Amino acid sequence: MGMNRIVNTLATLLFAVSCQVSSSENIYKPTPSPVQTPIVATQVHKSIPTILSTPSPSPVQTPIPTPTPIPTAKPSPTPSPSPQQLAIPNYQTVLSEAVGQFVVDSDGVVRRVTSGVLYTFDDCEIRPGQGTVANYISVLKNHGIKNAIFFMYYRRCYAVRPDLVAMIKNAGYTIGNHGWDHREMVRLIREQGTDELEHEINGGAHDSIYLRPPGGEINPYVVERIRANGFVPMLWSASDNDTYNQGRNSCNTLLSYLISTVKHGSIVLMHMQIAQGPNALDAYLSGKTSC
Ligand SMILES: [Zn+2]
Repeated sequence: MGMNRIVNTLATLLFAVSCQVSSSENIYKPTPSPVQTPIVATQVHKSIPTILSTPSPSPVQTPIPTPTPIPTAKPSPTPSPSPQQLAIPNYQTVLSEAVGQFVVDSDGVVRRVTSGVLYTFDDCEIRPGQGTVANYISVLKNHGIKNAIFFMYYRRCYAVRPDLVAMIKNAGYTIGNHGWDHREMVRLIREQGTDELEHEINGGAHDSIYLRPPGGEINPYVVERIRANGFVPMLWSASDNDTYNQGRNSCNTLLSYLISTVKHGSIVLMHMQIAQGPNALDAYLSGKTSC
């Protein structure tokens, strides 16, 4: 190929590229420089497979320039705070590729992941020596589950059960913030005011960036305050329904709820105080239909 042909080909290519760039700029942004798009609640974020046990100096977020539609995200009928005005927490610190990315719903709350299943365990053991957390960890390990979050409330669990905190961390799993004293946040604002809400949020487990509101009760203001304080609000999309029937559901009943609700991408809610929970989880992960 002669030099002229090479130069001509390059010039044609450059022209094509510059046309593409300018046309995409015209569509999305009139400003000339590339803009760091803040995280928008409806985006699926790119995975940053940093494991929590590896303290990284500053997790870098990779913004996605074009919003990715989430098929199941529904428009919220209630006005929600503009995500751009919030201090945005890092939604991706804990996940490995096993569970893909968090899906952030339009209300700013995480309820699902993009692949695999994320198991989460709330509250605390009933008493020292109950052994449920150790049993859950054994089940997770036996089935090769790499990611799990244990949402502990602070005053009656995290602060008084350093053995559980250490056990969870040593196993490579993640501590979540479940509030200072498991006070339901929407009611807390109504009855005791916003200062107590801040206390409930910030008095929780400090070494977590994930917060599960006690009882799963949220409204747009609660979500805004959780995010403004740097936590990722996380609910769930499947559960073993273990607190129903005052926690007395049998292993088979728990298992039947897992079988009927857990799907690809689920965040699963279970509880640390339910003695039959580990057996039900083990049966589920073993593909059994009865305990
Ligand atoms: Zn709880």
